[in-house]
Amino acid sequence: MKVAVLAPAWFAVPPTGYGGIEWVVSLLADGLVEAGHDVTLFAAGGSHTKAKLAAVFPEAPGRQIGRTFPELKHALSCFAHADEFDVINDHSGMLGAALGATTSTPLVHTVHGPLDGEPGEIYELIARVAPQVGLVSISMNQRKPKPHLNWIANCPNALDFSVYPCKPHRGDYLLFLGRLSPDKGAHRAIAVAMATGLPLKIAGKLQEAKEREYFHELVEPHLVDGIEYLGEVTHGEKVELLQNARATLFPIEWEEPFGLVMIESMACGTPVIATRWGAVPEVIEHGRSGIVVDRYTEMPEALEAADQLDPWELRRYVEEEFSSQRMVRDYVRAYEAAIAGASSSAA
Ligand code: UDP
Repeated sequence: MKVAVLAPAWFAVPPTGYGGIEWVVSLLADGLVEAGHDVTLFAAGGSHTKAKLAAVFPEAPGRQIGRTFPELKHALSCFAHADEFDVINDHSGMLGAALGATTSTPLVHTVHGPLDGEPGEIYELIARVAPQVGLVSISMNQRKPKPHLNWIANCPNALDFSVYPCKPHRGDYLLFLGRLSPDKGAHRAIAVAMATGLPLKIAGKLQEAKEREYFHELVEPHLVDGIEYLGEVTHGEKVELLQNARATLFPIEWEEPFGLVMIESMACGTPVIATRWGAVPEVIEHGRSGIVVDRYTEMPEALEAADQLDPWELRRYVEEEFSSQRMVRDYVRAYEAAIAGASSSAA
């Protein structure tokens, strides 16, 4: 199959620090090549891939919120060649999905964000102008606000396990890894650390104005007595942090569509204690691969149950559920369905 994979415009794949979508796109493009497909990856310059790289920007532009031109130029560089491919799989955002209206090549668009509020309204409009675009969810929960859209597959994210070695080891600190944004809950992780008296290491992205504001108000004042902020961490630093933690806290309070940090932690053999929001119950099997609680205030009590989990069992669980081969198979099925749908509606 000749597949075009369209990555987000802003950063190279795989990412050097923060960047969930970039990791997934990189793994998918490589996995499709390994499965024998002819893949062109449209991504920022500096990307590393087993696919053919088509980069409209020689250097990754970095996120430029509100600037449509770079995003449009990046997406158009793919759609201008649409007729050279059997299928396009877009991961670049809503603009890419809307451009599905411009081509008869089947477009499979992966929705990476949540669908409540304005994004949901925009996807409704996209469905009006480009009803043929097949949507892929990354969890079933993600579809809930908009169940009637043109969903053709659910393809949960995956990991390259070779770069997340399992280290069965009971650490002495709690870990929070993620964006410094209120819904991700670093401040709730701090409350858990205070309640248990355990050290807490916080690692994560702090780039946008909103993230800084939140950090100054709710995180920074508590960086004392074993609670520390390490900044945004690279892959190597992150793996070491995950491997050596006693538990990773995932105290979200939003409809998070997936949550790569959870599977990264399990792969390293470290249990996750997470709140029951978004995709959490689809990603963690409570009592086998992690502990799911209703509120973050239950986390201190859940620590004992998390300690009982076997690191190798966590590893087995993620290898069964979140391998790149499984993700590639899911996507190939989605592409085949989109191609079959396009040829039956043309007939
Ligand atoms: N990440 C990282 N360094 C950091 C913070 C985050 O490498 O300092 C990674 C994290 O390990 C994960 C990704 O960025 O792979 C974030 O993806 P996730 O799905 O967990 O959250 P999102 O921010 O996309 O909601």
